[in-house]
Amino acid sequence: MALIDSFGRKITYLRVSVTDRCNLKCFYCRVGDDRMVVESQELLTFEELTRVIRIFSELGIEKIRITGGEPLLRKNVMTLIRDLAKLPGISEVSLSTNALLLERFAHDLAHAGLRRVNISLDSLKPETFARITRGGQVDGVLRGIKAAVTAGLHPVKVNMVVMRGVNDDEIPDMVAFARDHGLILRFIETMPIGEAGLQADVNHMPAAEILAKVQSSLGRGEELVAESGGVGNGPANYFGHLPSGTAIGIISAKSRNFCASCNRMRISSRGALVFCLGSSGQTDLKGSLRSGISDAELRALIVRSVQLKPSGHMFQNEEQEGLGHWMSRLGG
Ligand code: SAM
Repeated sequence: MALIDSFGRKITYLRVSVTDRCNLKCFYCRVGDDRMVVESQELLTFEELTRVIRIFSELGIEKIRITGGEPLLRKNVMTLIRDLAKLPGISEVSLSTNALLLERFAHDLAHAGLRRVNISLDSLKPETFARITRGGQVDGVLRGIKAAVTAGLHPVKVNMVVMRGVNDDEIPDMVAFARDHGLILRFIETMPIGEAGLQADVNHMPAAEILAKVQSSLGRGEELVAESGGVGNGPANYFGHLPSGTAIGIISAKSRNFCASCNRMRISSRGALVFCLGSSGQTDLKGSLRSGISDAELRALIVRSVQLKPSGHMFQNEEQEGLGHWMSRLGG
């Protein structure tokens, strides 16, 4: 069984946000107060999530990424990961995290069946990191990255949202950091998602400029060997690797979108099935689950929802679409 949308794209990948809460407050992701944080009864329970994901896996979903908010803040998330990793048909469960809790949990996560982690790291400088995250401490993230590597959550990917005038001067340092620690590095363009994302888009730096900065920072004999596709499931266009093997990619959602090869659907922390990060359509899964939907009906609902996936995002219509979703509810 395969999930094919109305544009012929095969859907094999599901991102699942398990909480809105976060222990960082990155200014491009969330507004300063906690008005978007929901009561726990509004979140899908692990039983509900495991049921939905089992049905997705029967329909052809192979890979699951757990995200948030900060997913490691959800109580007992290890149990969910263990149950999902056991589902027949699921070849990989991975996690997006800010790494602050990885020092404590990396080993147990690997033991529970987690395969990989993507770690957000927008600055190596303590002051810049604190400014972007509204008070976070970069040391904890660096310790978390080490713990992930030690626990074998391989390959560890580090994601940096590049913002003009905020952290773009750190592109060379970030390349050196990835090379020295054996990490895959991805640069992310800001996306106009939610109120915070829309505001941060004034700092937008397009992929072409990021690439030029990477190239000009490389030493002699360190040229990027061009490549495309390949590393991971994802939207990053791998534009190359260094002679050391360090892969460098870019998630250029806005300047050069990759919607034609989108293979994913998302479940928000509040139990909506979201068709696209950059447009507002969604199906209310939680309402259906809590009004006693059967497995057969749930399967049909998912198949119908996949048909509603749009051909591409609407980031160019920022005024209409920017406020549609909150990144902190969807998790990227
Ligand atoms: N807390 C986890 C983390 O830090 O990775 C998971 C959730 S976080 C919302 C997922 C990713 O979305 C992070 O890499 C973050 O930098 C990115 N993100 C959030 N808002 C964004 C925006 N407006 N534009 C681009 N990326 C954004």
